[in-house]
Amino acid sequence: MDTPFIDVSYAPWVVVVSYLIASFASYVALDLAKRVRVQDRLLSIGWWAGGSLALGTGIWSMHFVGMLAMSLPFAVGYGYVVTALSWVAAVVVSAIALYVASRNRLTTARLVGGSITMGAGICAMHYTGMAAMDMVPGIRWSTPWVLASVAVAVGASAVALLIFFWLRRQTGWAARRWELVAALVLGAGISGMHYTGMAAASFPLGSLCLSENELGGDGLGLLVSVATVVLLTMTMLTSVIDARMQSKAEVLAASLQKANTELQQLAFRDALTGLPNRLLFDDRVALAVERSVRDGTLLAVLFVDLDGFKPVNDSFGHGFGDMVLREMAQRLASVARTTDTVARVGGDEFVLLLEGGLDTTATAQIAQRVIDALTQPVTGGEHEVRLSCSIGIAMYPSDGARDQLMANADAAMYAAKRGGGTAYAFFEPHMNAGIREQIELQHDLRRALENGGELALHYQPKVGAGGSLITGVEALLRWNHPERGMVSPAVFIPVAERFGLINRLGNWVIEEGCQQMRAWMAQGLRIRVAINLSVHQLRQDDLVQRVELALQRHAVDPALLIFEITESVAMEDAEGTFKAFENLGRIGVKLSIDDFGTGYSSLSYLRRLHVSQLKIDQSFVQDLETSSDARAIVEAVVQLAHALGLSVVAEGVETAAQRDVLTALHCDELQGYLFAKAMPASMMADWAVNIGRPADLAFKESVYLN
Ligand code: C2E
Ligand code: MG
Ligand code: MG
Repeated sequence: MDTPFIDVSYAPWVVVVSYLIASFASYVALDLAKRVRVQDRLLSIGWWAGGSLALGTGIWSMHFVGMLAMSLPFAVGYGYVVTALSWVAAVVVSAIALYVASRNRLTTARLVGGSITMGAGICAMHYTGMAAMDMVPGIRWSTPWVLASVAVAVGASAVALLIFFWLRRQTGWAARRWELVAALVLGAGISGMHYTGMAAASFPLGSLCLSENELGGDGLGLLVSVATVVLLTMTMLTSVIDARMQSKAEVLAASLQKANTELQQLAFRDALTGLPNRLLFDDRVALAVERSVRDGTLLAVLFVDLDGFKPVNDSFGHGFGDMVLREMAQRLASVARTTDTVARVGGDEFVLLLEGGLDTTATAQIAQRVIDALTQPVTGGEHEVRLSCSIGIAMYPSDGARDQLMANADAAMYAAKRGGGTAYAFFEPHMNAGIREQIELQHDLRRALENGGELALHYQPKVGAGGSLITGVEALLRWNHPERGMVSPAVFIPVAERFGLINRLGNWVIEEGCQQMRAWMAQGLRIRVAINLSVHQLRQDDLVQRVELALQRHAVDPALLIFEITESVAMEDAEGTFKAFENLGRIGVKLSIDDFGTGYSSLSYLRRLHVSQLKIDQSFVQDLETSSDARAIVEAVVQLAHALGLSVVAEGVETAAQRDVLTALHCDELQGYLFAKAMPASMMADWAVNIGRPADLAFKESVYLN
């Protein structure tokens, strides 16, 4: 027999409200689920707990409002305890949902497990909520509808999880829109489950609700729904504000990070090559030394200085020079192993820090590889240049403490360079002593240049081949150091070159030389003066101007002035020398190649240079009496020079035998201790005019060769 049932109807607007509450709760839940993923653990737990409360209350309240939508012919009320239990169930379900949603990845196991747990939770909440109505007779349940409601709950949970994980990959406004859609779908799932569940329930006619005096009434329903909406809104607002702050903080952190990197780049990188600079290198050395002490391994610092870079830079322009430096930086970096550090520490100076599993043999091999790499030609535009480098090596711990490594590698580099370049040299203690002394010397030299008085030009006569005529003098710089006494130019000229004092020093010599020539002329002596030029002076932009000015100021005939440039120096940058010689030749001064035989001039090159004299290096003159080779060389040089229309001077003539051989070989002029050492200008005039030592020497102002 069929029991007659109550006809249940629903108030549509209340149904809509219940659906909106479910959707709103879903929206808040989706938003919170993202929050739960924050790094801070406490904060994450906070969001999880808060989110579960808000979502749970939302679902629970939806159920409550959904019940209000139903019109029943009897007063309805809910039992306190069971209602509270249903709320707890809702919160627990929400906690599970948020937990699953906050995982990194949605695995199939998580999806299945999560949606079944959530679905079961939602059903538990719903049916507990129904049980809070103490009905007489009991509610009749239709099994298919109950199963359907369970299916809807589990299905809606699965869809919600899928949507959530899909959403997480979206960004910007699209993500926001989809979040809204997802919330509406999830809301439909939750309310759909509720109304399916309600369809499963039938109330027999004449049913009574025994719990009518407990929780109930329309007023309470309204209160619950308003309170829920307020709770959800507040949670939502907190979430939005937090998101704002978090994204602001993120932007701030990102821009800070960027500024920091840029600053680091500025502070620790060389702008031209992008390599670490000295600051960063020092830091790396410090760390490497610590490791080396700990592990007992060796370290090597290689100081690499390019040979011949400056002339390239000067003659092809800085654009090309920069390109060359970048290219060299790259080659160095490619020779270095990943554990090594390459840095640029000066114009054309680089350093390498080699670490790990090293010995001197391996280090020497790497140094040689660096030389091989850097001596390959560099092409850019229509230019092709071939540079080289000198390398100094200091090892840790054998070559000094951490703060001495660079200085010692530098000293070793300098030794390699002085030895002719294109080579590496391991540090030796005596090199260091040299460096300290050089620094002291340059300091004193600076002072000498400022104060004057310590520097003087001495003059050494050059005599005609017969040995009886003075053909001119060579001006040789002397430094009377207050403590050290006489310092040789062979010592302090390289110091001046190294520390950038050579131009000032050279200018002083030119000025002084011209002034002396004028003074001699006032005494009726026309003496040709030879002045030595350093390569740095040759590259000086205003050299020609300065010389011209000095000649004019002292009213000296340019033809009386001859500049000596060492052969190896003249060859180092052939094009640069060529230009400088051309310009000097134009103002009428003469040019001489000093120490001839020590460099590698080619005949064609000599022909192109505007040179009027070759000075045969002392070493050949010294060997003349003992070595037939030296004799053959001198003979060849004289013939070559004469063929090119140049005169030949032999320097360092100390014995009469040397003089005789040189004369026999048709050397044009002789210079050396046999005739006179370099002497002050005052003595020079006396010597030339009166004493004439050796006896057969006489000064004749009108006689010049070539
Ligand atoms: P240099 O131009 O080849 O000068 C010749 C050097 O040989 C001088 O040494 C001279 O005193 C020395 N000498 C002359 N005759 C003899 C001899 O018979 N036997 C021996 N053993 N030596 C002799 P000094 O004055 O010490 O100069 C050394 C070098 O310093 C010069 O070599 C020159 O390259 C450089 N120098 C000197 N004065 C100047 C200067 O004003 N400017 C520049 N840039 N360099 C200078
Ligand atoms: Mg000379
Ligand atoms: Mg010489």
